[in-house]
Amino acid sequence: MAPETTLITHNYQELLEAIHDSSGLEVKNPATGEVVGSTRMGSVSDIEAAVQAARTVQPVWEELGSDQRADYLSKAADAVDASAEALAELLSREQGKPLNGPNARFEVGACAAWLRANAGFELAPEVLVDDESGRAELHYKAVGVVGAVGPWNWPMMISIWQLAPSLRMGNTVVLKPSEYTPLSVQALVYVLNQVLPADVLQVVPGDGKVGAALTSHPDVDKVMFTGSTVTGKAIMRTAADNLTRLTLELGGNDAGIILEDADPKAIAQDLFWGAFINTGQTCAAMKRLYVPASLYDQVCEELVKVAEATPMGIGLNEDNLLGPLQNKQQYDIVVRLVQAAKDSGARILTGGEPETEQAGYFYPVTLVADIDNDNPLVTEEQFGPVLPLIKYNDLEQAIQWANGLDVGLGSSVWGNDLEACKKIAAKLEAGTTWVNKHGAVDPRVPFGGIKSSGFGLEFGIEGLKQVAVPHVISY
Ligand code: NDP
Repeated sequence: MAPETTLITHNYQELLEAIHDSSGLEVKNPATGEVVGSTRMGSVSDIEAAVQAARTVQPVWEELGSDQRADYLSKAADAVDASAEALAELLSREQGKPLNGPNARFEVGACAAWLRANAGFELAPEVLVDDESGRAELHYKAVGVVGAVGPWNWPMMISIWQLAPSLRMGNTVVLKPSEYTPLSVQALVYVLNQVLPADVLQVVPGDGKVGAALTSHPDVDKVMFTGSTVTGKAIMRTAADNLTRLTLELGGNDAGIILEDADPKAIAQDLFWGAFINTGQTCAAMKRLYVPASLYDQVCEELVKVAEATPMGIGLNEDNLLGPLQNKQQYDIVVRLVQAAKDSGARILTGGEPETEQAGYFYPVTLVADIDNDNPLVTEEQFGPVLPLIKYNDLEQAIQWANGLDVGLGSSVWGNDLEACKKIAAKLEAGTTWVNKHGAVDPRVPFGGIKSSGFGLEFGIEGLKQVAVPHVISY
C-alpha cells in the first residue's frame, strides 16, 4: 500500500506560489497579455542532476511491485481531483483555453482518469510455449529512466499520457515541458508529488537546449516526445548514439471524409468539435474535410451555424468554449495560411480576418470553401481554428487525397451506413480512423501515428509495453 497521505486542496494562489520564481521567466496569458506568473528556467546541469536522481531511485520504485505502484497512481489521481479547480484555472490562464467545454476542466479531469486507468492496467507475463518441448514466458520490466518532452497545446494531459504508463511499469520520469506552458506542468507535478516518493517524478522547465540535453542523455533509456516532426527527427538523430528507445507523437493533418448518405444537420456538432477542439490546436483534430458535391452546400451551411453560435474569448469567462491561439508563432502560421487560401480565390464562409479588438492571439473560427486540395491551407498543418472544405465528385479521388500527405495520425469517415463507413475506414492511412466522430481518445485504446506522424503507441496495455523491456524466460 502507498503511505496514507492527507490530500491538500490547493486554491489557485497557493498553487501558483508553490511554483512561482520571481527571478525567472514571465509567462503571459495568451488571451490578455497579462502576466500569469514567473518560472525558473532550468539548465543542462539541472537535467544532469535530475537524471542522476531518477537513476538512483528507479530500482527502489520498481522493487515496490506492481500493486503498490498502482496504489500510488490511484492516490495521485485523488490528489489531482482535490486541486482540480486550481489546476484548471492555471491551465486556462497560461494556455488560454476556456474553463468549460472540452477544455481546461476537461483536461484536468482527463489527467485523473488516465492515472486511474493506468493504475488498473496489468501487464502480465505471456506464456508463449507450453508443451512437451518446454515452456517460454514473455515478461516485461521497466526500461529505466524515461525522459519526456511535451508541447503547449494539452500540456497537462500529454504529460500524464507520458508519465502514467511509465511510472506504472516501474520507470522514473524526468519531464521537460514546453517553454510556453511551464507553469501548468510544474503545478501538476507539484500536486502529484504530494503522493509520489521523492525523485520518482521530476520536472525541469527550460528551452529546446534543455530538452535536447534530456533526450540525448546517455542515462535516459526511453524518450517520449510529443511535438513537431522537425524536433522529432532531431531527437531521433541524437538517440541513435545511445540506442535510446523512442515514442514519437508528431502531429498530423487529419482528413475527414463525408459519404453521400450522411445527414449534415445531424453530424454538424460532432464535425465541428472534431475540428475545433482546443481551438484547433490538437494533434488529432480534423484539419481538412472532404465533402461530396451533393451535400456540399448543406454541410457548409450547417457548419457555419455551429461556428457562429460557439463563443470564443477569455478562458476564465464561463460562457466561452473557444480561446486564443496559444502563442504568436502559431497565430502567424494561421494568418499566413488563411491569407494564402484567400489569395488563391478560396471562399471564406465565416471568419477569415484576424481579430483586432481583443488583446490576445485571437483568430475567429474560419471555414474555407471552394479550395483546391493542393492549397497550402490543406497540405500544411495549420493547427488553429480553421477548416478547409474540399468538394469531391468521386469517392476514390477523396480517399487518394486523404492519403496523399506524408502524415497519418487520425482520420474519420462520416455516413449512415456503418458497414460502408468501415470499408472506407480500412482504406485510410492513419494510426486511428474514427467513424462518425473524430479525435475521441480513450485510455484503454492504443493511439499513435504512422508516416511522419511518428511511431510507438500510447495508452492501454500496448502503451505499457512501450515503456517496458521484454524478457523471455525459457525452460
Ligand atoms: P516543438 O517540436 O518545437 O516543441 C515541442 C517540445 O520540444 C517543446 O518542449 C520544445 O521546447 C522541445 N524541444 C525543442 N527543440 C528540442 C530538441 N532539439 N530536443 C528536444 N526537445 C526539444 O514544437 P513547437 O512548440 O515549436 O510547435 C511547432 C509545431 O509543432 C506546431 O506548429 C504544430 O504544428 C506542431 N505541434 C504538434 C503538437 C502535437 O500535439 N503533436 C503539439 C504542439 C505543436 P521549447 O518549447 O522550450 O522550445
